[in-house]
Amino acid sequence: MNLEATSEASWLHDLSPRSRELLDRVGEVAAACAERADEHDRAATFPRKDFEDLATAGLNAATVPREHGGLGLGPLNGDTLTLWLMTKELAKADLSLGRCWEGHANSLVLLHALASEQQQARWFDGIVRGGEKWVAWSGEPQARKPGEGTRFGTSISAVDGGWVLDGSKAFATSATGADWAILLVNTAGPGGARHADGPPEGLLLLACDLSDPTVTVDDSWWDPIGMRGTASHVVEFHQTFLPEEHLIGTPGAYLHEGWQSAFTPHYAASFLGAAEGAFDYAREYLLRQEKTADPYVQQRAGSMAVNIDTAHLWLAHVARLWDGGDRPGAQRAGNRARHLVEHLALETVDHCVRACGARSLVRPSPVERILRDLTFYARHDNDDHVLATIGRAALGQTHDSSFFKP
Ligand SMILES: Cc1cc2nc3c(=O)[nH]c(=O)nc-3n(C[C@H](O)[C@H](O)[C@H](O)COP(=O)(O)OP(=O)(O)OC[C@H]3O[C@@H](n4cnc5c(N)ncnc54)[C@H](O)[C@@H]3O)c2cc1C
Repeated sequence: MNLEATSEASWLHDLSPRSRELLDRVGEVAAACAERADEHDRAATFPRKDFEDLATAGLNAATVPREHGGLGLGPLNGDTLTLWLMTKELAKADLSLGRCWEGHANSLVLLHALASEQQQARWFDGIVRGGEKWVAWSGEPQARKPGEGTRFGTSISAVDGGWVLDGSKAFATSATGADWAILLVNTAGPGGARHADGPPEGLLLLACDLSDPTVTVDDSWWDPIGMRGTASHVVEFHQTFLPEEHLIGTPGAYLHEGWQSAFTPHYAASFLGAAEGAFDYAREYLLRQEKTADPYVQQRAGSMAVNIDTAHLWLAHVARLWDGGDRPGAQRAGNRARHLVEHLALETVDHCVRACGARSLVRPSPVERILRDLTFYARHDNDDHVLATIGRAALGQTHDSSFFKP
């Protein structure tokens, strides 16, 4: 919690002793994860050992309610900021880990929100006792890019006792690490949740046991500029049977109840982790090089500090709205925070590079990876559309608060 020494983050003093203890524990795990980040980035491998360490430290079931043996954090448990600060610490160590972690934690929020009591008892137990890892996959972009031969997408048919799924999903985070995936599939045809235009009721959330041999991973597609350690491969479904007891919530509930907006500010927490990682490195670098008397360096350090404070204050504000039960207010503010924090984080990394110079982008400097990761991850939602959505809401127009569709 080195922020206290350098920031206006007086709200940190409001954190409960339990939250502080949890964040200290996360900090210890994150230090080890940071050591492994370069290896996962180079090899594009899932950070398996990081998740094992989180489970060993009793942190992996963060968003599982306490009555089911979890830590009881997150927007449904009245302690949102602790979760987001936890995510920020992990993302600061390795933004790819932050993404895999968010995917896991967000999936458990969905189970808490929508799954039946029986389903919760079964699946929460697997997480708490078995360290099982979850993720949620929509990922069926329909518009092909130049040279792209494959068309992503799934089709689902109802059969006796459940459904059969065929096709593929891209951007399947933790594809080689997760045990279970919540599949967002559309009965109207390919497109998942994000890229389909059918009625909301066509969207089903189905839990898929990833040890099923009809589910395969194609690891030839994932060779991105950044976020390589998320292992967000293409996953293929070959007549995969999904039993009706794996249906989570009523069809369409995900969109009708706006659950994506519980996750939008969570992405911002990860962006902030990346920014803080760059800021910490810049301070060490500039002190070491004795450049801190330079007025331009001082201005860039000032901007970085203010950006990081601002991002924290917004996240704390959105978290308070969730914890106070103001869902519409939290949804509105969450989109604003997502928009703003993207810019604050990208600008902070830019300040770091300009103040430090070229060698800050030479490995093993973590800034080289942070810049690539953040550039790529910020494309998880198009900020032009996020801002236009905020504008439409401000003008009293209808708008899509889940996926910011134009
Ligand atoms: C690191 C990473 C991990 C991810 N992990 C997951 C995951 O675990 N699960 C999951 O479900 N998804 C995940 N996603 C996927 C992500 O949410 C999107 O589905 C993905 O970014 C779509 O790819 P795209 O931006 O190339 O495609 P497109 O959706 O084609 O978007 C390209 C651009 O076109 C814009 N656009 C789209 N439609 C229109 C239109 N009609 N008019 C004008 N502009 C339009 C978009 O806003 C965007 O800017 C992940 C993404 C990243 C980057």
